[in-house]
Amino acid sequence: MSVYNFAAGPAMLPASVINQIKSDLPSFNDSGMSVMEISHRSDLFEKIINEAKTNLLELLNLSDDYEVLFLQGGATTQFAAIPMNIAKTKHIGLVDTGHWSIRAQEEAKRAGIKVDTIASSKTDQYHNIPNVKQPQQDLDYIHLTTNNTIEGTAYNKLPNLTTPLVLDVSSNFLAQSYQFKNVDVIYGGAQKNIGIAGLTIVAVRKDLITENDLPGMWNFQILSKKNSMLNTPPVFAIYTANLVLKWLKNLGGVAEIEKRNRQKSGLLYDFLDNSKLFNNPVKKDSRSLTNIVFSTGNDELDNKFIEQAKENNLVNLKGHRLVGGMRASLYNAMPYEGAEALVDFLEKFERDNWRTK
Ligand SMILES: *Cc1c(COP(=O)(O)O)cnc(C)c1O
Repeated sequence: MSVYNFAAGPAMLPASVINQIKSDLPSFNDSGMSVMEISHRSDLFEKIINEAKTNLLELLNLSDDYEVLFLQGGATTQFAAIPMNIAKTKHIGLVDTGHWSIRAQEEAKRAGIKVDTIASSKTDQYHNIPNVKQPQQDLDYIHLTTNNTIEGTAYNKLPNLTTPLVLDVSSNFLAQSYQFKNVDVIYGGAQKNIGIAGLTIVAVRKDLITENDLPGMWNFQILSKKNSMLNTPPVFAIYTANLVLKWLKNLGGVAEIEKRNRQKSGLLYDFLDNSKLFNNPVKKDSRSLTNIVFSTGNDELDNKFIEQAKENNLVNLKGHRLVGGMRASLYNAMPYEGAEALVDFLEKFERDNWRTK
Protein backbone atom coordinates (compact mmCIF):
# COMPACT_ATOMS: atom_id res chain seq x y z
CA MET A 1 0.00 0.00 0.00
CA SER A 2 1.53 3.33 -0.93
CA VAL A 3 0.49 6.50 0.79
CA TYR A 4 1.07 9.66 -1.22
CA ASN A 5 1.83 12.60 1.02
CA PHE A 6 0.91 15.95 -0.56
CA ALA A 7 1.95 18.03 2.47
CA ALA A 8 3.49 21.45 1.85
CA GLY A 9 6.17 20.90 4.50
CA PRO A 10 7.58 18.94 6.15
CA ALA A 11 7.10 16.91 3.01
CA MET A 12 7.90 13.53 1.56
CA LEU A 13 11.44 12.26 0.99
CA PRO A 14 12.56 10.10 -1.94
CA ALA A 15 11.97 6.40 -1.13
CA SER A 16 15.61 5.59 -1.91
CA VAL A 17 16.77 8.19 0.62
CA ILE A 18 14.57 6.65 3.32
CA ASN A 19 16.08 3.26 2.48
CA GLN A 20 19.61 4.65 2.61
CA ILE A 21 18.94 6.16 6.04
CA LYS A 22 17.54 2.83 7.17
CA SER A 23 20.60 0.92 6.04
CA ASP A 24 22.97 3.53 7.57
CA LEU A 25 21.31 2.79 10.93
CA PRO A 26 22.51 1.79 13.44
CA SER A 27 26.14 1.89 12.30
CA PHE A 28 27.21 4.68 9.96
CA ASN A 29 30.20 3.80 7.74
CA ASP A 30 31.16 0.94 10.08
CA SER A 31 31.73 3.43 12.88
CA GLY A 32 29.55 1.46 15.30
CA MET A 33 27.50 4.64 15.81
CA SER A 34 24.46 6.00 14.02
CA VAL A 35 24.80 9.32 12.23
CA MET A 36 22.53 10.81 14.94
CA GLU A 37 25.19 10.06 17.52
CA ILE A 38 28.41 11.12 15.82
CA SER A 39 30.30 14.25 16.77
CA HIS A 40 30.05 17.28 14.53
CA ARG A 41 33.80 17.59 15.06
CA SER A 42 34.46 14.13 13.62
CA ASP A 43 36.03 13.43 10.23
CA LEU A 44 32.88 11.47 9.39
CA PHE A 45 30.74 14.58 9.69
CA GLU A 46 33.31 16.96 8.20
CA LYS A 47 33.12 14.88 5.03
CA ILE A 48 29.31 15.03 4.97
CA ILE A 49 29.03 18.79 5.41
CA ASN A 50 31.71 19.57 2.83
CA GLU A 51 30.16 17.18 0.34
CA ALA A 52 26.75 18.76 0.90
CA LYS A 53 28.20 22.21 0.21
CA THR A 54 29.82 21.11 -3.04
CA ASN A 55 26.73 19.22 -4.18
CA LEU A 56 24.48 22.18 -3.50
CA LEU A 57 26.65 24.67 -5.43
CA GLU A 58 26.91 22.22 -8.32
CA LEU A 59 23.14 21.65 -8.47
CA LEU A 60 22.42 25.38 -8.27
CA ASN A 61 25.09 25.97 -10.92
CA LEU A 62 26.83 28.52 -8.68
CA SER A 63 30.56 29.16 -8.59
CA ASP A 64 32.57 29.26 -5.39
CA ASP A 65 31.98 33.01 -5.33
CA TYR A 66 29.16 31.85 -3.05
CA GLU A 67 29.44 30.58 0.50
CA VAL A 68 26.94 27.96 1.66
CA LEU A 69 25.77 28.19 5.27
CA PHE A 70 23.84 25.40 7.02
CA LEU A 71 21.81 27.09 9.72
CA GLN A 72 18.86 26.63 12.05
CA GLY A 73 15.81 28.76 12.76
CA GLY A 74 14.08 28.27 9.42
CA ALA A 75 13.65 30.64 6.52
CA THR A 76 11.80 32.79 9.05
CA THR A 77 15.05 33.62 10.89
CA GLN A 78 16.65 34.56 7.59
CA PHE A 79 13.92 37.13 6.88
CA ALA A 80 15.78 39.24 9.47
CA ALA A 81 19.29 37.75 9.43
CA ILE A 82 19.91 38.38 5.73
CA PRO A 83 19.13 42.12 5.79
CA MET A 84 21.00 42.49 9.10
CA ASN A 85 24.09 41.07 7.42
CA ILE A 86 24.03 42.43 3.90
CA ALA A 87 21.70 45.47 3.71
CA LYS A 88 24.47 48.07 4.07
CA THR A 89 22.14 51.12 3.89
CA LYS A 90 19.26 49.34 5.67
CA HIS A 91 16.94 50.01 2.74
CA ILE A 92 15.59 47.16 0.62
CA GLY A 93 12.86 46.54 -1.94
CA LEU A 94 10.33 43.73 -1.75
CA VAL A 95 8.05 41.99 -4.22
CA ASP A 96 4.71 41.35 -2.52
CA THR A 97 3.38 38.00 -3.72
CA GLY A 98 1.43 36.97 -0.62
CA HIS A 99 1.89 35.46 2.81
CA TRP A 100 5.57 34.57 2.93
CA SER A 101 6.72 37.76 1.25
CA ILE A 102 4.71 39.72 3.83
CA ARG A 103 6.34 37.73 6.63
CA ALA A 104 9.74 38.59 5.12
CA GLN A 105 8.77 42.25 5.13
CA GLU A 106 7.55 42.19 8.75
CA GLU A 107 10.70 40.54 10.03
CA ALA A 108 13.04 42.86 8.10
CA LYS A 109 11.18 45.86 9.54
CA ARG A 110 11.56 44.47 13.05
CA ALA A 111 15.29 44.39 12.39
CA GLY A 112 15.22 48.13 11.64
CA ILE A 113 15.26 47.85 7.84
CA LYS A 114 13.28 50.20 5.58
CA VAL A 115 11.29 48.09 3.12
CA ASP A 116 9.71 49.50 -0.05
CA THR A 117 7.15 47.34 -1.81
CA ILE A 118 8.17 47.68 -5.45
CA ALA A 119 5.55 45.35 -7.00
CA SER A 120 2.47 43.56 -5.70
CA SER A 121 -0.34 41.30 -6.86
CA LYS A 122 -2.47 42.00 -3.79
CA THR A 123 -5.30 43.60 -5.77
CA ASP A 124 -5.62 40.33 -7.70
CA GLN A 125 -5.74 38.33 -4.41
CA TYR A 126 -2.25 37.09 -5.29
CA HIS A 127 -3.57 34.94 -8.12
CA ASN A 128 -0.68 36.05 -10.32
CA ILE A 129 2.89 37.17 -9.89
CA PRO A 130 3.58 40.82 -10.60
CA ASN A 131 5.94 42.06 -13.27
CA VAL A 132 8.96 43.63 -11.56
CA LYS A 133 10.41 46.80 -13.11
CA GLN A 134 13.68 48.42 -12.18
CA PRO A 135 12.92 50.76 -9.25
CA GLN A 136 14.23 54.35 -9.37
CA GLN A 137 15.47 54.52 -5.76
CA ASP A 138 18.77 53.11 -4.50
CA LEU A 139 18.13 49.81 -2.73
CA ASP A 140 20.57 47.34 -1.18
CA TYR A 141 18.65 44.53 -2.85
CA ILE A 142 15.18 43.32 -3.80
CA HIS A 143 13.64 40.41 -1.90
CA LEU A 144 11.63 38.03 -4.06
CA THR A 145 9.83 34.78 -3.24
CA THR A 146 10.35 32.51 -6.24
CA ASN A 147 7.47 30.17 -5.38
CA ASN A 148 4.46 31.09 -3.27
CA THR A 149 3.65 28.00 -1.28
CA ILE A 150 0.20 29.10 -0.10
CA GLU A 151 -1.08 30.97 -3.17
CA GLY A 152 0.27 28.43 -5.69
CA THR A 153 2.15 30.93 -7.87
CA ALA A 154 5.76 31.06 -9.06
CA TYR A 155 8.21 33.00 -11.17
CA ASN A 156 9.32 30.92 -14.12
CA LYS A 157 11.97 33.49 -14.95
CA LEU A 158 13.69 35.95 -12.65
CA PRO A 159 13.37 39.66 -13.39
CA ASN A 160 16.42 41.14 -15.06
CA LEU A 161 17.32 44.21 -12.97
CA THR A 162 20.38 46.24 -12.06
CA THR A 163 19.52 45.97 -8.35
CA PRO A 164 20.60 42.56 -7.00
CA LEU A 165 18.04 39.98 -5.88
CA VAL A 166 17.68 38.03 -2.65
CA LEU A 167 15.59 34.92 -3.24
CA ASP A 168 13.44 32.93 -0.84
CA VAL A 169 13.33 29.61 -2.70
CA SER A 170 11.94 27.57 0.24
CA SER A 171 9.20 25.82 -1.72
CA ASN A 172 10.91 25.31 -5.08
CA PHE A 173 14.51 24.81 -3.96
CA LEU A 174 16.17 22.83 -6.80
CA ALA A 175 12.76 22.08 -8.35
CA GLN A 176 13.24 24.20 -11.47
CA SER A 177 16.15 25.96 -13.18
CA TYR A 178 16.79 29.63 -12.72
CA GLN A 179 19.51 31.81 -14.15
CA PHE A 180 21.04 33.20 -10.98
CA LYS A 181 22.42 36.40 -12.47
CA ASN A 182 22.95 39.34 -10.13
CA VAL A 183 21.70 37.33 -7.15
CA ASP A 184 23.11 38.12 -3.70
CA VAL A 185 21.47 35.35 -1.66
CA ILE A 186 19.47 32.18 -2.31
CA TYR A 187 17.90 30.69 0.82
CA GLY A 188 15.25 28.34 2.10
CA GLY A 189 14.24 25.78 4.67
CA ALA A 190 15.22 22.20 3.83
CA GLN A 191 11.94 20.59 4.90
CA LYS A 192 10.08 21.11 1.63
CA ASN A 193 12.41 19.92 -1.07
CA ILE A 194 15.83 19.08 0.39
CA GLY A 195 15.20 17.00 3.45
CA ILE A 196 13.87 17.43 6.93
CA ALA A 197 12.99 20.25 9.32
CA GLY A 198 15.74 21.80 11.41
CA LEU A 199 18.00 22.91 8.57
CA THR A 200 18.03 26.18 6.65
CA ILE A 201 20.33 26.62 3.69
CA VAL A 202 21.77 30.02 2.74
CA ALA A 203 23.96 30.54 -0.33
CA VAL A 204 25.41 34.04 -0.09
CA ARG A 205 27.92 35.91 -2.27
CA LYS A 206 31.24 35.79 -0.45
CA ASP A 207 32.07 39.45 -1.05
CA LEU A 208 28.98 40.43 0.97
CA ILE A 209 30.23 38.60 4.05
CA THR A 210 31.99 41.38 5.92
CA GLU A 211 32.97 42.39 9.43
CA ASN A 212 30.00 43.40 11.59
CA ASP A 213 28.85 43.61 15.20
CA LEU A 214 26.08 41.03 15.10
CA PRO A 215 25.99 38.26 17.72
CA GLY A 216 27.69 35.07 16.58
CA MET A 217 24.64 33.01 15.68
CA TRP A 218 23.39 35.84 13.44
CA ASN A 219 26.76 36.79 12.03
CA PHE A 220 27.47 35.41 8.53
CA GLN A 221 31.19 36.18 8.83
CA ILE A 222 31.58 34.21 12.07
CA LEU A 223 29.33 31.38 10.85
CA SER A 224 31.26 31.17 7.60
CA LYS A 225 34.67 31.12 9.34
CA LYS A 226 33.39 28.24 11.49
CA ASN A 227 32.05 26.33 8.46
CA SER A 228 28.51 26.58 9.95
CA MET A 229 29.73 24.99 13.18
CA LEU A 230 29.88 27.85 15.66
CA ASN A 231 27.63 25.66 17.79
CA THR A 232 26.33 22.11 17.31
CA PRO A 233 24.79 21.93 13.83
CA PRO A 234 21.78 19.72 12.98
CA VAL A 235 23.95 16.76 12.02
CA PHE A 236 21.15 14.40 11.02
CA ALA A 237 19.38 17.06 8.90
CA ILE A 238 22.60 17.93 7.05
CA TYR A 239 23.31 14.24 6.44
CA THR A 240 19.76 13.78 5.08
CA ALA A 241 20.07 16.86 2.88
CA ASN A 242 23.29 15.47 1.42
CA LEU A 243 21.54 12.19 0.59
CA VAL A 244 18.76 14.11 -1.19
CA LEU A 245 21.33 16.20 -3.09
CA LYS A 246 23.17 13.06 -4.20
CA TRP A 247 19.85 11.48 -5.24
CA LEU A 248 19.06 14.54 -7.35
CA LYS A 249 22.53 14.58 -8.95
CA ASN A 250 22.22 10.90 -9.90
CA LEU A 251 18.83 11.56 -11.43
CA GLY A 252 20.31 14.16 -13.77
CA GLY A 253 20.12 17.34 -11.71
CA VAL A 254 17.72 20.26 -11.78
CA ALA A 255 17.00 20.20 -15.54
CA GLU A 256 15.81 16.59 -15.30
CA ILE A 257 13.73 17.10 -12.16
CA GLU A 258 12.16 20.22 -13.68
CA LYS A 259 11.06 18.10 -16.65
CA ARG A 260 9.50 15.59 -14.28
CA ASN A 261 7.92 18.32 -12.16
CA ARG A 262 6.36 19.81 -15.32
CA GLN A 263 4.93 16.40 -16.23
CA LYS A 264 3.42 15.87 -12.77
CA SER A 265 1.97 19.36 -12.43
CA GLY A 266 0.89 19.37 -16.10
CA LEU A 267 -1.21 16.29 -15.51
CA LEU A 268 -3.00 17.97 -12.61
CA TYR A 269 -3.40 21.37 -14.32
CA ASP A 270 -4.80 19.71 -17.46
CA PHE A 271 -7.38 17.96 -15.37
CA LEU A 272 -8.30 21.15 -13.50
CA ASP A 273 -8.59 23.17 -16.74
CA ASN A 274 -11.18 20.72 -18.05
CA SER A 275 -13.01 20.03 -14.80
CA LYS A 276 -16.69 20.78 -14.25
CA LEU A 277 -16.23 20.61 -10.50
CA PHE A 278 -12.75 21.82 -9.55
CA ASN A 279 -11.14 25.14 -10.25
CA ASN A 280 -7.63 26.59 -9.96
CA PRO A 281 -7.67 30.39 -9.53
CA VAL A 282 -4.09 31.11 -10.65
CA LYS A 283 -3.29 32.96 -13.88
CA LYS A 284 -1.74 30.48 -16.31
CA ASP A 285 1.66 32.14 -16.71
CA SER A 286 2.02 32.35 -12.91
CA ARG A 287 1.37 28.72 -12.03
CA SER A 288 3.57 26.96 -9.51
CA LEU A 289 5.12 23.60 -10.41
CA THR A 290 5.30 22.53 -6.78
CA ASN A 291 2.16 23.79 -5.00
CA ILE A 292 -1.12 23.46 -6.86
CA VAL A 293 -4.20 25.00 -5.27
CA PHE A 294 -7.76 24.08 -6.23
CA SER A 295 -11.28 23.94 -4.86
CA THR A 296 -14.89 23.17 -5.74
CA GLY A 297 -15.99 26.58 -4.44
CA ASN A 298 -18.10 24.76 -1.83
CA ASP A 299 -16.52 24.23 1.61
CA GLU A 300 -18.64 21.22 2.43
CA LEU A 301 -17.74 19.49 -0.81
CA ASP A 302 -14.07 20.40 -0.36
CA ASN A 303 -14.07 18.78 3.09
CA LYS A 304 -15.77 15.69 1.70
CA PHE A 305 -13.06 15.49 -0.97
CA ILE A 306 -10.23 15.84 1.56
CA GLU A 307 -11.77 13.12 3.77
CA GLN A 308 -12.37 10.66 0.95
CA ALA A 309 -8.94 11.30 -0.57
CA LYS A 310 -7.41 10.42 2.78
CA GLU A 311 -9.35 7.15 2.88
CA ASN A 312 -7.74 6.44 -0.49
CA ASN A 313 -4.21 7.05 0.83
CA LEU A 314 -3.92 10.52 -0.69
CA VAL A 315 -3.07 12.52 2.40
CA ASN A 316 -2.50 16.14 3.47
CA LEU A 317 -4.49 17.73 0.65
CA LYS A 318 -6.14 20.36 2.83
CA GLY A 319 -5.31 23.89 1.65
CA HIS A 320 -3.61 26.42 3.89
CA ARG A 321 -6.03 27.92 6.42
CA LEU A 322 -5.57 31.38 4.87
CA VAL A 323 -6.99 30.37 1.48
CA GLY A 324 -9.01 27.20 2.22
CA GLY A 325 -9.80 24.60 -0.44
CA MET A 326 -7.17 22.06 -1.40
CA ARG A 327 -3.47 22.13 -2.14
CA ALA A 328 -1.37 19.38 -3.68
CA SER A 329 2.35 19.82 -3.13
CA LEU A 330 4.25 17.98 -5.83
CA TYR A 331 7.82 18.45 -4.69
CA ASN A 332 10.82 16.66 -6.20
CA ALA A 333 10.29 13.47 -4.18
CA MET A 334 6.69 12.97 -5.35
CA PRO A 335 6.73 10.27 -8.04
CA TYR A 336 4.67 10.61 -11.24
CA GLU A 337 2.48 7.78 -9.93
CA GLY A 338 1.44 10.03 -7.03
CA ALA A 339 0.17 12.73 -9.39
CA GLU A 340 -1.58 10.04 -11.46
CA ALA A 341 -3.27 8.55 -8.40
CA LEU A 342 -4.47 12.01 -7.40
CA VAL A 343 -5.90 12.79 -10.85
CA ASP A 344 -7.60 9.36 -11.01
CA PHE A 345 -9.24 10.07 -7.69
CA LEU A 346 -10.24 13.61 -8.73
CA GLU A 347 -11.93 12.17 -11.83
CA LYS A 348 -13.83 9.66 -9.79
CA PHE A 349 -14.90 12.24 -7.22
CA GLU A 350 -16.06 14.54 -10.01
CA ARG A 351 -18.17 11.80 -11.63
CA ASP A 352 -19.83 11.07 -8.31
CA ASN A 353 -20.36 14.65 -7.19
CA TRP A 354 -20.58 17.21 -9.98
CA ARG A 355 -24.39 17.26 -9.92
CA THR A 356 -24.47 18.22 -6.25
CA LYS A 357 -22.35 21.34 -6.67
C1 LIG B 1 7.63 27.42 4.44
C2 LIG B 1 8.11 28.73 3.92
C3 LIG B 1 8.77 29.65 4.74
C4 LIG B 1 8.95 29.44 6.22
O1 LIG B 1 9.90 28.49 6.44
P1 LIG B 1 10.40 28.04 7.89
O2 LIG B 1 11.58 27.22 7.54
O3 LIG B 1 9.28 27.29 8.52
O4 LIG B 1 10.75 29.27 8.66
C5 LIG B 1 9.26 30.81 4.16
N1 LIG B 1 9.09 31.06 2.86
C6 LIG B 1 8.45 30.20 2.04
C7 LIG B 1 8.30 30.54 0.59
C8 LIG B 1 7.93 29.02 2.55
O5 LIG B 1 7.30 28.16 1.74
